[in-house]
Amino acid sequence: MVCRHNRELEALVQEAKKMTEKGKVADYIPALAESEKNSLSVTIYHAENTCLSAGDDDQTFTLQSISKVLSLALVLMDYGKEKVFSYVGQEPTGDPFNSIIKLETVNPSKPLNPMINAGALVVTSLMKGQSAKESLDYLLGFIRRLANNPEITYCKHVAESEFRSSMINRAMCYYMKQYDIFEGDVEEVMDLYTKQCAIEMNSLDLAKIGCVFALDGKHPETGEQVISKDVARICKTFMVTCGMYNASGEFAIKVGIPAKSGVSGGVMGISPYNFGIGIFGPALDEKGNSIAGVKLLEIMSEIYRLSIF
Ligand code: GLU
Repeated sequence: MVCRHNRELEALVQEAKKMTEKGKVADYIPALAESEKNSLSVTIYHAENTCLSAGDDDQTFTLQSISKVLSLALVLMDYGKEKVFSYVGQEPTGDPFNSIIKLETVNPSKPLNPMINAGALVVTSLMKGQSAKESLDYLLGFIRRLANNPEITYCKHVAESEFRSSMINRAMCYYMKQYDIFEGDVEEVMDLYTKQCAIEMNSLDLAKIGCVFALDGKHPETGEQVISKDVARICKTFMVTCGMYNASGEFAIKVGIPAKSGVSGGVMGISPYNFGIGIFGPALDEKGNSIAGVKLLEIMSEIYRLSIF
């Protein structure tokens, strides 16, 4: 299906884009610092096959933390809630996504939720497969079905850049290994995790995946139940409580939809009115959320009354 550029949406993008001046692109993963700070794009994908877009929507970007929702969905379907939640908790932290502090202060030393790095690393360590390559292929297969796009793959450049620089994530894995929360080989899991985070797509792919969640796991194009209803519900709940880092509370008040952001500047939004939203705007605010992306969602939520609350 072709996505049509929409004038009304373009005006909102231009308005929100002003915020990019106040943001900064992530540079702790060196390859992300190469992003074009002022760009902003959005795609809205509705279940009845209407698709609207605005901004530089042909740009691709890596999922980063957005991938955490997708790996969680797959692992939950494979192992069930009981097993997965014996490794990772269900509570927001109020701390930055890469914080290590609660691993030491909370007892038992189990990450508080799967949306922070520590929790996502444990989830990734549970991914099916005999090797990092097999697990990545398995995850990619799932994501290709979600986006109904067999071309989706990961960006080698970004994955390698993160693999070389990701010392805090390695430290968290070793810390959790000490307490038997993390059972895998740290370097293997880091290899898989950095490739997972570097999975690349455009705002249309992301909006379509959002639409799958909006439809409780059923694909709008293929009709396949790609995610079980219960797992889709759990993922959406995590997106509300911890999807926008330690700004999730404020985001729930200002926008009020399940959403997940990544430090690349991607945001996936989900509306109960059967549509998904894919945004890419690499300038970030101090919490790590796309500064113009959040502004755009705020404006859209107000005009179209999107809040679920
Ligand atoms: N790959 C990133 C990291 O682990 C993901 C973080 C994010 O997008 O929040 O630091």
